[in-house]
Amino acid sequence: PPPREVLPWNRFGDASRELAQVVVDSGWMPDLVIAVARGGLIPAGAIAYALGVKAMGTMNVEFYTDVEETLPEPQVLPPMLDTSVLAGAKVLVVDDVADSGRTLEVVMRLLRTGTTPGAGPHTVTPAPEHLPAEARSAVLYTKPQSVIEPDYTWRSTDRWIAFPWSSLPPVTATANTEA
Ligand code: 5GP
Repeated sequence: PPPREVLPWNRFGDASRELAQVVVDSGWMPDLVIAVARGGLIPAGAIAYALGVKAMGTMNVEFYTDVEETLPEPQVLPPMLDTSVLAGAKVLVVDDVADSGRTLEVVMRLLRTGTTPGAGPHTVTPAPEHLPAEARSAVLYTKPQSVIEPDYTWRSTDRWIAFPWSSLPPVTATANTEA
């Protein structure tokens, strides 16, 4: 099998602090951190703490239906955050990885223009008056084929990444659990 990039929990702790440091050193500070669920939830929480930013929201995007199977376009799905909190704000969008980069591309376009390509029946979009003043993106990893260059990235790799939160299967009931 091709070599994988393994990110253990302890190294994730350093990675999120270092990525927050890159944001701070750029001289820009968000008012609000938005996690792209689910992969961006844990990085976004860690980075928001490291930045000292309390305001957080999430956006749900579905793209992959299987390991190598994708929808035609990434879909922004409910529940959508209360988009009035975006109005005029500086927003940092956080995800785990920009691989094809199409998920992040759709989220950034939605925040910058209020529109999304290939909108499906469940797609949600913010009203024009709720668009942020500025949206930037931060990811732990960027892959070379990504269609967008995130504003902030921790590392680049062309390998499959094993993140600590998704490298083990879901827990199951232990044998002696009472029904
Ligand atoms: P993209 O739209 O940039 O192709 O990737 C969308 C999502 O697919 C990422 O946010 C991530 O959750 C998942 N993904 C893409 N590449 C990898 C990878 O190398 N490892 C893992 N664990 N997930 C990945």
